[in-house]
Amino acid sequence: MAESKRDYYEVLGVDRNADDATIKKAYRQLAKKYHPDMNPGDAEAEKKFKEASEAYGVLSDPDKKRQYDQFGHAAFEGGAGGAGGFGGFDFNGADMGDIFGDIFGDLFGGGRSRSTNNGPMKGANVRASIRISFEEAVFGCEKEIELNLKDECSTCHGTGARPGSSPQTCPKCNGKGQVVYTQQSLFGMVRNVQTCPECSGKGKVVKDKCPDCHGSGYITRKRTIQVSVPAGIDDGQSIRIREKGEPGVNGGPRGDLLVQVVVSRHPILQRQDENIFSTAPISFAQAALGGEVRITTVDGDVLYDVKPGTQTDTKVRLKGKGVPHLRNKNIRGDHYVTLVVQVPDKLSEEAKDLLRQFDAVSGNTLKKSDDLKTTKEKPKKKGFMDKMKEAGDKVKEAFEDQI
Ligand SMILES: [Zn+2]
Ligand SMILES: [Zn+2]
Repeated sequence: MAESKRDYYEVLGVDRNADDATIKKAYRQLAKKYHPDMNPGDAEAEKKFKEASEAYGVLSDPDKKRQYDQFGHAAFEGGAGGAGGFGGFDFNGADMGDIFGDIFGDLFGGGRSRSTNNGPMKGANVRASIRISFEEAVFGCEKEIELNLKDECSTCHGTGARPGSSPQTCPKCNGKGQVVYTQQSLFGMVRNVQTCPECSGKGKVVKDKCPDCHGSGYITRKRTIQVSVPAGIDDGQSIRIREKGEPGVNGGPRGDLLVQVVVSRHPILQRQDENIFSTAPISFAQAALGGEVRITTVDGDVLYDVKPGTQTDTKVRLKGKGVPHLRNKNIRGDHYVTLVVQVPDKLSEEAKDLLRQFDAVSGNTLKKSDDLKTTKEKPKKKGFMDKMKEAGDKVKEAFEDQI
């Protein structure tokens, strides 16, 4: 038996002095080439795959490699060389996932690496939202939000197993986290890869559950989180708070908390990017003669000097009264105000008299329209008898047409 076995270095096609990376690279290439998933039904490929896996299983393990280098295959045959324990290679064995996890994780994509790669992984991000006022968005604010966040269970340190026990490799998937079903279909044999139902893809099952987290490995607690909202943030934008999301796996960092900001509307002010827009009413007298008008801004009310002869819809710019730039709060946008001349709809007799006097000395527009009215003949209101007469005439005309 031992004589018929190929040398492990020869199997992987590497030099006896090859380093770990070279051995791993060589195995990766062979595994990819001969993996049963890539060669369904090919017995020769399967044999080659097993041979390569066996070689790599030994040469990637410093202890086994040392024994193999010293005793050859005899190192792993019961009794010989004193190594003992390592009785050949069980390809359906539970250790496969752990030994080759990193290789297959790389080879066969995310699903596997998630379930069998025991390296640190960042936790999932958590989303939340806060509502703030228009002014709070402009100048920034500090807010607190309450969230139910998962934490690693301190009793079992996230394993989910009762202290003193440890999770077992899942017997259903042998720790791979996935199971392959082969189904006969109209188109031939179909291989379905599914997340292992036994361990939900974790590759491990907890027999004796932790009493505090009931085996989940996590405890959910209400936490208050401080959110620093930067000046200049806009409606719909999100703030990322690092490492306030779900706990990481295998010592990885926590995920992030993403807080979306909802900005309430302002009764007067509107915003577009860093500029603010509003309208301000001014009286006819202010428009004509000029004067101060009070304008609401995010910095409080300001007095603006309206120039004499200002027309309605005149736009004025209040420089630097807009929104600070998100990246540099010392730079601010502007506030554009549209001045709208108000026409009074209720006037006292005295005011009307004064307006008529004003009109008389400034173009006499009222007089002209009065003249037009008098020259125009007002249509006389028709009486009942007139309408009857008209109707009779129409009927008469109709008959005459026929004759
Ligand atoms: Zn626990
Ligand atoms: Zn499983």
